[in-house]
Amino acid sequence: MSNTTVVDRLPAMAAPVLENYVGGAWRPASSLQALEDRNPATGELIGSVPLSGWADVDAAVAAARAALPAWRARSPLVRARALFRLRDVLEDHREELARLVTLDMGKTLDDALAEVGRGIESVEAATAMPHLLKGENLEGVARGVDVELVRQPVGVVAAITPFNFPAMIPLWFLPFAIGAGNTFILKPSEQDPLSSQRLVELIGTIDEIPPGVVNLVHGAHDAVNGLLDHPGVDAISFVGSAPTARYVYRRAAENGKRVQALGGAKNSMVIMPDADPRLYIDAVLGSAFGAAGQRCLAGSVAVLVGSASEQDATRDAIVAAARDLRTGDGADPSTDVCPMISPASRERLEREIEQAIAEGAKTVLDGRIGGGPGGAELAPTVIDNAPENSRMLREELFGPVLALVRVPDLHAAIEWTNQSPYGNSAILFTRSGEAAREFRYGIEAGMVGINIGVAAPVAWFPFAGWKGSIDGDLHANGRDAIEFYTCKKVVTARWS
Ligand code: NAD
Repeated sequence: MSNTTVVDRLPAMAAPVLENYVGGAWRPASSLQALEDRNPATGELIGSVPLSGWADVDAAVAAARAALPAWRARSPLVRARALFRLRDVLEDHREELARLVTLDMGKTLDDALAEVGRGIESVEAATAMPHLLKGENLEGVARGVDVELVRQPVGVVAAITPFNFPAMIPLWFLPFAIGAGNTFILKPSEQDPLSSQRLVELIGTIDEIPPGVVNLVHGAHDAVNGLLDHPGVDAISFVGSAPTARYVYRRAAENGKRVQALGGAKNSMVIMPDADPRLYIDAVLGSAFGAAGQRCLAGSVAVLVGSASEQDATRDAIVAAARDLRTGDGADPSTDVCPMISPASRERLEREIEQAIAEGAKTVLDGRIGGGPGGAELAPTVIDNAPENSRMLREELFGPVLALVRVPDLHAAIEWTNQSPYGNSAILFTRSGEAAREFRYGIEAGMVGINIGVAAPVAWFPFAGWKGSIDGDLHANGRDAIEFYTCKKVVTARWS
């Protein structure tokens, strides 16, 4: 929230104040305070985000609870058909949603289109709900006694989402949650809520999804705490930074809720001397600098393997290509590297670069260009010689900064990478199947890429971070989503 200004929204704000969506109707939040939402490329004010509080959360929970019995009672086939409708509506509005993502979050339009596509993919995966919800049975465990397992919805579930994928991440949760018969409350990021707002508007046009099944509450900490504390919320899905994930996990669990909290990351990209530069250069650049490094799967450390001259050759190839990337407005088709989410984020990252330099690191490519028109631009930056265990090498900085590490062989690369407190993703570039196999076996990360810069699983698989990248056991998407959004009931019956 550090990049946003709290303003009193009375008497009037320059941009319209967003409203909450509760029980099928748009209504103003009870709070009189709002945050400014600005286009990161230009600084233009594009929205005002109300700071909803307990009363707003309470109203959304009441609507979701009221809608639950009838929604839960609908056939899974009927709920799946509602998801097919949602899929079609999103497909029809794909470009509109992507343009909102670019306007509000800043990423390039191509990246935003891919994001919306990934969100649609989660809806597609959830349309298999009748199949996914099927239970198990075992006949004749004793004379005349059979056992069956059925899956039932958890109840009212809430999703609290981050700024970096404002359209996709709500869709990691919403289709699986409602497909399984739950009702849903979304609290989108206060930094770029416009695509979530539009998503929920579109859902409001779908007759097959009745009022109260999907609700939206804008806001920041108070809205989140309301959801974590409210006895009418049964489960919390969270995605955001590691400290917030830990906080959300603890508080929700203390309140007796089921919770999955996906947190931050520090992902290594290991480059073997035999790697094909035609393959790895673009992949490394896309991973480190795409979306201005603001992805939880961004490769933020390049681990250069080999002799000193091989390491230097890899470094030089990366730096030469990074120098050619164009930083600017994501709405401009010639832009490679978009602005960061806000001037405050850019300033925070520049302080991290200064700190690394003060500790002895060198900028082999310095992207500090003064922020650009909206104040949020930082061009690709490559840092060499950062001290071991410095924040530059071990902490998530979430910007277009790539740190270099040098190791002699693959074994040392795996060992170095596994010392990370995080385990979201790890990448290997090589032409050797043997090296790939050793990496896959030994690396401590849940999403592994071999000759792929961003190893984002398709939605039929879990988004499988390990270690400090998740609090909780069940991930988003894939079968994990069904496990998370259903309660298992085992019935033992005698009919003899
Ligand atoms: P964030 O933690 O600042 O915010 C996420 C959500 O939590 C927002 O909705 C915000 O309103 C709320 N929030 C933030 N601080 C809070 C507090 N103190 N009390 C209550 N609520 C609070 O994260 P962000 O900056 O929006 O997103 C970027 C982070 O998300 C990065 O760390 C990134 O790695 C992570 N992320 C992780 C994954 C994953 O799958 N592991 C995916 C995407 C993003």
